[in-house]
Amino acid sequence: MDIMKKPVISFEFFPPRSPAQQRKFWYTLGCLQTLNPSYISVTWGALGSAAQASLDVLADLVKDCKVPITAHLSCAGQTERQMLAAIEELESLGITRFLALRGDIPDQVQPADKENSSIVTGETVLTHASDLVRLLAINPRREISVAAYPEAHPESLDLSSDIGWLKHKLDLGASQAITQFFFNADTFLRFRDTAVATGISQKLVPGILPIHNIDKVLDFSAKCGATVSRQLVQRFQSATTAESKQRAAIEHCVELCQELHREGVDDFHLYTLNQAPLAYAVACELLGKPVKVADMQAA
Ligand code: FAD
Repeated sequence: MDIMKKPVISFEFFPPRSPAQQRKFWYTLGCLQTLNPSYISVTWGALGSAAQASLDVLADLVKDCKVPITAHLSCAGQTERQMLAAIEELESLGITRFLALRGDIPDQVQPADKENSSIVTGETVLTHASDLVRLLAINPRREISVAAYPEAHPESLDLSSDIGWLKHKLDLGASQAITQFFFNADTFLRFRDTAVATGISQKLVPGILPIHNIDKVLDFSAKCGATVSRQLVQRFQSATTAESKQRAAIEHCVELCQELHREGVDDFHLYTLNQAPLAYAVACELLGKPVKVADMQAA
């Protein structure tokens, strides 16, 4: 008897910024919604940038989307007042689920600048995601997620100190953590073991990135500290046609998720990059609805 639970899948999108991106966004959402995801999430620009683009798409989604919506919110460099206003605006749309983040801080913004801005305005500037979790957790009706890093956040001293800060965010009121992408199941499983040994009992959801383009993935991964093995690079480099690259991406992603599922992982958060075919094909495979490449290209 198969005692494994059916996987639960969620999808992450970024807010579209142009008419062409809008069309792609709604098309991708339409395809992926047919798979009944547990929720979809929409990213939020760092340092409050492009917040309006997220708010605009979230306002449309709450009217048109049939699945729950999680709004990402990033707090670095923002005052408590600015964050409370953003939370209020999101709640006025009916959003109650949040992914509380610090956001990436560009090199040109030094911590001293943030301190100065707080001295000038006399207001508290948030510096870590935990500051935002604390603000959100004031209202127990809010469902709060946070970010986690199976290979440690690039600014942290090491994995154990990063997991210590993750525990701090969870203890302040977050109910789950969604991870940065990684490409090897052992990476996540080792991280989960260490997190559990540290006393973390909340759900740890793997963030899964289908590899659309190996060169771009190598570039992102170098920035965020994710390991891409030589074998994985070779697997993609030996795929020479668009179809074989797509097949390699689906196979790699499905193998990764199935290995995690055998180890008791039931929830998967797919980074869609607002593109339907790979996320759709991977989710179909995980949900036991195999698709042919031709169906996938139609998606
Ligand atoms: P934090 O939890 O604040 O951690 C940042 C660093 O500080 C870590 O090294 C941590 O160990 C350390 N730390 C944490 N708390 C403390 C403390 N109190 N004192 C000292 N050190 C501490 N970015 C966006 O801009 N928009 C998005 O929509 C977005 N979505 C994301 C979704 C997911 C699933 C993930 C994994 C990341 C996402 N990011 C997004 C990227 C994220 O904002 C960056 O990785 C950022 O650099 C760290 O954010 P954080 O919330 O993990 O920060």
